[in-house]
Amino acid sequence: MLELHEGDRTMAALLGGKGAGLAEMSRLGLPVPPGFIVTTEACRAWLSGGGEPDGLWDQVESALTDLERRSGLRFGDPAAPLLVSVRSGARFSMPGMMETVLDVGMTDAVAAALVARGEARFAWDSYRRLVQMYGRTVLGIDGGLFDAQLMGLRTELGATSDAHLDAAALQRLTGEFRRIVVEHTGADLPQEPREQLRHAVVAVFASWNGERARLYRAHEGIPDDLGTAVNIVQMVFGNRGERSGSGVCFTRDPVSGAPGAFGDYLPDAQGEDVVSGSRSPMDLSELARREPGLHHELSEHLRTLETHYRDLCDVEFTVERGRLWILQTRLGKRSPAAAFRIAVELAEEGVIDLDEALTRVDGTQLQTLLHPTFAAREDVRPLATGLPASPGAAYGQLVFDSATAMEWTALGRQVVLARPETSPDDFGGLLAARAVITSRGGLTSHAAVVARGLGRTCVTGVEGLVVDPVDRLATLPGGVTLPEGTVVSVDGTAGELYAGQREIQPSPVATAVEAGDTHSEDPTVRAVLTLLAHADARRRLGVLANAETPEEARAARRFGAEGIGLCRTEHMLLGERRVLVERLVTDEDREGALAEIEQLAHAEFTSLLETMEGLPVVVRLLDPPLHEFLPDLVELSVEVARAEERGGVEPALERRLATTRRWHESNPMLGLRGVRLLTVLPQIIDAQVRALAEATVELRDAGHDVRPELMVPLVADVAELVAARARMEGIVADVGRAHGASLHLPIGVMVELPRAALTAAELAQHADFFSFGTNDLTQTTWGISRDDAEANFLAAYRDAGILATDPFKTIDEVGVGALVELAARDGRRTCPELGLGACGEHAGDPASVAFFARVGIDYLSCSPPRIPVVRLEAGRQAV
Ligand code: PEP
Ligand code: MG
Repeated sequence: MLELHEGDRTMAALLGGKGAGLAEMSRLGLPVPPGFIVTTEACRAWLSGGGEPDGLWDQVESALTDLERRSGLRFGDPAAPLLVSVRSGARFSMPGMMETVLDVGMTDAVAAALVARGEARFAWDSYRRLVQMYGRTVLGIDGGLFDAQLMGLRTELGATSDAHLDAAALQRLTGEFRRIVVEHTGADLPQEPREQLRHAVVAVFASWNGERARLYRAHEGIPDDLGTAVNIVQMVFGNRGERSGSGVCFTRDPVSGAPGAFGDYLPDAQGEDVVSGSRSPMDLSELARREPGLHHELSEHLRTLETHYRDLCDVEFTVERGRLWILQTRLGKRSPAAAFRIAVELAEEGVIDLDEALTRVDGTQLQTLLHPTFAAREDVRPLATGLPASPGAAYGQLVFDSATAMEWTALGRQVVLARPETSPDDFGGLLAARAVITSRGGLTSHAAVVARGLGRTCVTGVEGLVVDPVDRLATLPGGVTLPEGTVVSVDGTAGELYAGQREIQPSPVATAVEAGDTHSEDPTVRAVLTLLAHADARRRLGVLANAETPEEARAARRFGAEGIGLCRTEHMLLGERRVLVERLVTDEDREGALAEIEQLAHAEFTSLLETMEGLPVVVRLLDPPLHEFLPDLVELSVEVARAEERGGVEPALERRLATTRRWHESNPMLGLRGVRLLTVLPQIIDAQVRALAEATVELRDAGHDVRPELMVPLVADVAELVAARARMEGIVADVGRAHGASLHLPIGVMVELPRAALTAAELAQHADFFSFGTNDLTQTTWGISRDDAEANFLAAYRDAGILATDPFKTIDEVGVGALVELAARDGRRTCPELGLGACGEHAGDPASVAFFARVGIDYLSCSPPRIPVVRLEAGRQAV
């Protein structure tokens, strides 16, 4: 037990956030009504089954006596009645999740005395509130019964709000409420104020374990054993006539971040009337007009609080017959835009420094500011929901295959590509479409990864969506049919699909970040750029991009990338070019196919290296399963069967089928991929390496500063790396020699299999750098398919509480993270100069950046639109 003036803001664990705030305000000399706090310690004792802690009530009695002395009033004395509020308040804010009882101490005798003093309306209004809250909270009566009674009376009297109920009506209501209490408990409201208080305190303790509170804690990760404090404070009354009222305000605008007090005031009302929205409050400026003195006093207190807490504060206040009381303060919740603006403006005002400003914002807030959004509409409901795989807002006509997506886009139409799931073959469609939706797949499925890379809006795992590419239509549960060409809107930030075209607002922040426009007039844009520049000055982590095309590379540079950390080369050989690989595998004009592949690679590498002049470009050797380059086995089998029916199968077709069958795999992600191709198709790797080496020498000869590096995917054993490295170094050296130069390209290894992580010490002896491929590392460590698991069971796992987060989104620090940490440590121990990067999706996840910084990673490589987010987070980790 502590009296308010004995505590301070540092005591939130014991006094709860609200109590600590009240105590701090008392210290600051703000007009806080006197009171005392039953600590969380007492609640914990009660919760552990020990009943009311020893001596608690004696302490309450003595604090009550002190409170009577301070207030000049007496608990239960009709001549000078003291009423108190009994409020919950835990260490962490749990808004509205626990209980409160107001007006404790009101009795028949007190009411009668107030009526006799001419305050009938105030008396009955306070009394009915006590019966209602006490009935619900202490006696466990369904609150709906009281609400129904109140609404019934309002209807009967034609009152549009509680404020229109006069004293007689409120007296009647008090009687009705008490009748409900008697009916449900067999007893009337206790007329002994101390009994009311004692029960109210226990009810607040018990509300810690109410269903709402438990659910909220589970969601927010608040421990279950903290308990709540109970704040017992003298009631001050905003419902005491015209010169009384209640308000809620902020020291700045919590939506835009603009300076100056912001809030609502409701005359002749108690605090809960403002929050419940049952009457329309007035703006603070209106209060300034009506009560300039009061408004001035309030503004002074707000300034004191903000200066003291050095941040945006949220304040509840009450005016009782012209006298201002501050009832609560806490740090104010704010929109992402306001968070940036407030942090930077507080720094400019000298209240905090820029390092601290950086800690007041985060990458997730920046992410929401970078994406276009739909203009807010309350009257539209989504057709379906799925996973928010790539943020943004887009609309277009539905198409069901990549060819149509490309065709229609070429005709100037906007399309949304819907697929059951996507494969590398859909690259062209993904590039062409404004948005992508899939019925299957999780947050690291192919569609999600590619869409994020391209900055395309994407929703995966859309519940109940059935895509039928043959009949060119999609269906949703409830008989909704969407034929090809139907216009839909996709909200990738929320994971929602809408019918029709919704209005889109571009993000001014993204536009300015890309343009490096540091002179924007928009205060939020200016704040984002200021904090990004500060993050860049502070961060130790490098930020690179996962990019393949010059278009992506240019975007990456505009967003501030310091190079390309992962160029996935497979896109060069998919789509129409797939046949080149097929020709190679079937041994049909092998030399011709190889020459073509090398030529293509040479052209692409040249433009990529030019675009990234002066910066590293890490080129990864071909990675996806071989069979993705071959025809679909089922389709081909059908074609052969039809040909047979018609009486003859061409030998070439038969050979095609045989080859496709030969390379078909039932578990391709664990099949012939990455470095393993070296055993089957070394020529393709040779062609890639030679093309990169040639492009490098030519560009360097022409005076360009280009910095390519090579990277080997899916290595499990050092012998694989040794073989690959020897082959690659031989080719690079040959090219150099042919040009009369000594050429050396750094060669790194992707650590994306548990075995690679466990044998990192050996790998490090043959690698210039490691790059952690956390997508495959998560898939293989968990034994969960990154493409299928979301729809099959991951979502259900999260619903059931088995998984708190998606391991494909935020790094699983204990499992996958432990492997990363081990490999980083062992690798560096063997080879202190070893470079360490991460290029899986986790490298672009704001919530994972701290982990990578902690385990000593040098750089993160992520899709271009996420670069500013990672720059900011990397800066935050460094201050
Ligand atoms: C990874 O596995 O994390 C990775 C970056 O490679 P990909 O996603 O191309 O398999
Ligand atoms: Mg991989």
